[in-house]
Amino acid sequence: MSESTPRIGALEAGGTKMVMAVATPDGTILEDTAIPTTAPADCVPQMIEWFAARDIDALGVAAFGPTGVDPKKDNFGYILKTPKLEWAGYDFLGTLRRGLNMIPAGYDTDVNGSCLGEATFGCARGLDTVLYLTIGTGIGAGVMVNGQLLHGMLHPEAGHIMLHKRDNDPGECVCPFHEGCFEGLAAGPSIEKRWGAKGVELAERMEVWELESDYIAEALTDYIMSFSPQKIILGGGVMKQEQMFPLVRKKVLANIAGYLDTPELADIDNYIVPNSLNEMQGILGCVELGRRALVAAQA
Ligand SMILES: [Zn+2]
Repeated sequence: MSESTPRIGALEAGGTKMVMAVATPDGTILEDTAIPTTAPADCVPQMIEWFAARDIDALGVAAFGPTGVDPKKDNFGYILKTPKLEWAGYDFLGTLRRGLNMIPAGYDTDVNGSCLGEATFGCARGLDTVLYLTIGTGIGAGVMVNGQLLHGMLHPEAGHIMLHKRDNDPGECVCPFHEGCFEGLAAGPSIEKRWGAKGVELAERMEVWELESDYIAEALTDYIMSFSPQKIILGGGVMKQEQMFPLVRKKVLANIAGYLDTPELADIDNYIVPNSLNEMQGILGCVELGRRALVAAQA
């Protein structure tokens, strides 16, 4: 590595932990660490100190949301309305940059970051329209369309699409906002409330995964019809139940019912896939966000 190789700071800002790394633009991680997500007054100075000691040339941040991702808007880089009250309205990116000599910085949602990581370094490399879905404590989707991470009026919140609650569902939607949304019916907390145990303890209970895969397949079918992704990547704790992949694939094809005829759907095992980067998709997406910000600043 020559001395002129840029050093990219990467920050995956999650609701429970902050993952930090320094990497080269090709995605080689030189050093990484993590700290718990506490109040911003406590953890943001720690992050600034860590990056400041490592001589980075640019920073890429992928943050929990809702958050402002449009550089043309006043709320760019702010955490918006969130149950984490200390973070609500916090100028996250601005505070980081002011502490780091205003280096070039890229910023997006955590799930868009993971989508970008898979599209740059992982199983979606070379594709331009990709959907990354995480199903864990919550459900979120990162969407890349024609090579651009999708923002629009804010950013997609595709975990909260309305779903049809199944007649045989003994549970209820646990989303505080919606009576029947994907996250409220299918994220980890809804599984635990419905069945009285965490997903990992229910691995042998086929009825759990039959119902869960119904909801996932309905959502994926809506995303396929809406965004026409070339690949769908499923991550998050719930998707560690790998027995669900064949169920989800079969049910998606049943939902589509022959209406679409594409090579991707004909090869469904390579169309709906697990994440491919050993849980590094998020931080590697941050590296690419930082790299792009550096290139843009040098242009
Ligand atoms: Zn909801």
